[in-house]
Amino acid sequence: MNTIIYTRVSTKEQAEQSFSLKTQKETCLEYAKRNKYEVLKIFIEKGESAKTTNRTEFNKLIEYINLKSNEIDFLIVFKLDRLARNMADHTNIVSFLTKNGIILKSATEAISQTPEGKLMENMMATFAQFDNDQRSHRTRLGMIQAVKEGRYVHKAPLGYRNNKKDGESSLMQTDEKIIIEKIFTDFSHGKKQHEIISDLKQIGITIAKQSLKKILLNPVYIAKMKTSFFDYLVKGDWEPTIDEIVFGKVQDILAKKSISYSIKNVDDDFPLRRFLKCPQCNHKLTGSWSKGRSMKYAYYHCTKKGCKFKPIKKEKAESLFLEYLRLFEPADRVLDDFSKSAKEFVKDKQKLNGKIVSTLNKELTELEDNKNRIEDLAIAGTFEKDRFIRKIGEVEKDITQKRVELDNTSKENIDIEAVLNYFKFFIKNMANLWYESDLDKKRTFQDYIFPEGIFIENNILRTTQINPILSLLEDYKDRVINSLSPLVAHRGLEP
Ligand SMILES: [Zn+2]
Repeated sequence: MNTIIYTRVSTKEQAEQSFSLKTQKETCLEYAKRNKYEVLKIFIEKGESAKTTNRTEFNKLIEYINLKSNEIDFLIVFKLDRLARNMADHTNIVSFLTKNGIILKSATEAISQTPEGKLMENMMATFAQFDNDQRSHRTRLGMIQAVKEGRYVHKAPLGYRNNKKDGESSLMQTDEKIIIEKIFTDFSHGKKQHEIISDLKQIGITIAKQSLKKILLNPVYIAKMKTSFFDYLVKGDWEPTIDEIVFGKVQDILAKKSISYSIKNVDDDFPLRRFLKCPQCNHKLTGSWSKGRSMKYAYYHCTKKGCKFKPIKKEKAESLFLEYLRLFEPADRVLDDFSKSAKEFVKDKQKLNGKIVSTLNKELTELEDNKNRIEDLAIAGTFEKDRFIRKIGEVEKDITQKRVELDNTSKENIDIEAVLNYFKFFIKNMANLWYESDLDKKRTFQDYIFPEGIFIENNILRTTQINPILSLLEDYKDRVINSLSPLVAHRGLEP
């Protein structure tokens, strides 16, 4: 049996942990040895972005697989999140591997090729994504508290500096407040933004137009905060720089100006543009408005020359899409079954992680003892300076490496209940969520659920690929139906 290995650190991780690649490589090699796989090639991605497009080693890996797929049985990664950072990428990569007869193996996680194993593999990849959201959620909770107390949690804007001292306000005015006062006074007296910019340049201050506008819009200068947590301005704990009346006048001027500039983006009207596909020629459909006798009609249509595809009304296409999404919303019974296996899986995994954490902690203690010993020897004069620096450097590197591993392992302890609740909510409300989302979210959503787009023909939608979690849920649905007594099944009860 032959295998290849892929390891990766992102740019950010690279800066934080210099050892991770070595650890990954060694762990993967050990895994191969343990399973008696022959290692054909190792791909090491050094500090590149997680986006597939930017990963040079990853591209080499794909090329290599294309050339030698017959010889390769496995691809080993240190952890699944090394392969892809998000579900969509993960899905694509796994389907590419499957097509080439290659089985994905994680050196540190249990995955198998059984249906349950596949399910778990997908759940884990999703969890990695959801957990990031969870983590930012926790950060958010901390931020909401700070905001409630009127504390400014972001980098201080021009005219202020951050102040972390307890019992004092979170922002302190700086000498630059004079600039802020001048900007607001001039603008409220009718000066144009470009005039203000060139005035400032005269006294040696360069400010971009975008930054100027940001300043004018920022309620921080009247000691208030606009946050995503509350839909009103929250009172801050610092000194205002600008009078509220002046600030209000500035907002009025800006609002009038922006109305005349706002041009509606035609793209906004067609969320399914380039997502729906022409069943006759495979082209992606586009959307446009056509003028009727008294009103305008919106259509999705094919742009391929000579294609016979009959344009479909926007409303029709979108309501068909909503119906189609509802087809995939599983029943509670299916979801409960699914949640149960997911919970069991995570419980097992966390048990395993607990063991890993205690081993790592033990090793860390030993390393720290070792460090103390080296320091003692140095104090006693046993070590010369160069040797001491080298020794202490080595042991400190090892300590860092262990800490990173510990951090990574404990990060895996996700809040499974929260993830599943979110997941259930998402999966039960797909059509509504899509309907209520803005254009960007609609697009992300569509691509996530149907990575290959959707064909539309004679008012029927069909797709070649759905999100693996959804397709696994479909499998579950079948199994749940089969497990019901024939009597119930014959009554035609939908599970
Ligand atoms: Zn066509």
